[in-house]
Amino acid sequence: MKIIKKASEMQRIALKLFKCGEEVGLVPTMGALHEGHVSLIGKSVKHDDITVVSIFVNPTQFGPNEDYLKYPRLFEQDIKICKKNHVNYVFAPSVSEMFPDGYKTFVEVKDMQDILCGEYRKGHFKGVATVVAKLFNMTMAERAYFGIKDFQQLRIIEKMAKDLNFRTKIVPCPVIREKNGLAMSSRNSYLSENEIKAAAGISKILKGAKADFKEKDAVQIIKKVYAGLESLPESKIDYVEMRDYNNLSKININAKKAVLAVAVWIGKTRLIDNIMLVK
Ligand code: AMP
Repeated sequence: MKIIKKASEMQRIALKLFKCGEEVGLVPTMGALHEGHVSLIGKSVKHDDITVVSIFVNPTQFGPNEDYLKYPRLFEQDIKICKKNHVNYVFAPSVSEMFPDGYKTFVEVKDMQDILCGEYRKGHFKGVATVVAKLFNMTMAERAYFGIKDFQQLRIIEKMAKDLNFRTKIVPCPVIREKNGLAMSSRNSYLSENEIKAAAGISKILKGAKADFKEKDAVQIIKKVYAGLESLPESKIDYVEMRDYNNLSKININAKKAVLAVAVWIGKTRLIDNIMLVK
């Protein structure tokens, strides 16, 4: 496994692989790798000739009062995990390599970037879309793997890839959870033992909504989920929303399929989760 730090080297290797007909799979991450990331890596190793994992804590997707500085950075451990899981290249550029002085170009996916998490994290998805577009260009990936855990991010990247004619195919991957149901996340390391217990309630509440969806309408479901989340210790809700599963547009009250997405603070940690609802 080779570690690459320079964009120009990543691009040179990608071009060589492309010319040899080797298909590259890309797994974009911010590091602090866990079983969720490993499941994406496993899919790429299975389907692609070459697997590239990018590790980049992207400053442009953090707001001024967010956790950019304290975000977990566990590079040595991440490298071991990548090696063990048969990754071919780790691309780990510095901030100045990705955003050198005088950098000016950004990608925006209008409307989709402003709803749900975008309403609470201004500029977040602009930062995400920009970095992912750059990674697609640098790796010339045939396929790129994204977790359904970050559902809005997945739909935004799909839309960006379509609108900007990227040839990279977006592969959605299921949410990997702890035994207690908590969706795995690098940010879970911020949680105390009691907070973990509270956070585990989120997925239970979403599961309940899935069962309720058979006979309840959207308004009733959202009301119940809101009350459930509110009753978790140390919780503060950013949003509870039901949206169109394919494009995140508003749904009508009697929709047959939807995504139920929530963002909730447990203490000082902001957690997101979602579930697909089908009648
Ligand atoms: P991150 O390092 O948090 O930016 O995540 C990198 C990729 O891993 C994204 O596509 C995430 O959606 C995905 N991911 C993170 N957590 C999970 C999880 N628990 N299950 C599946 N995919 C995940």
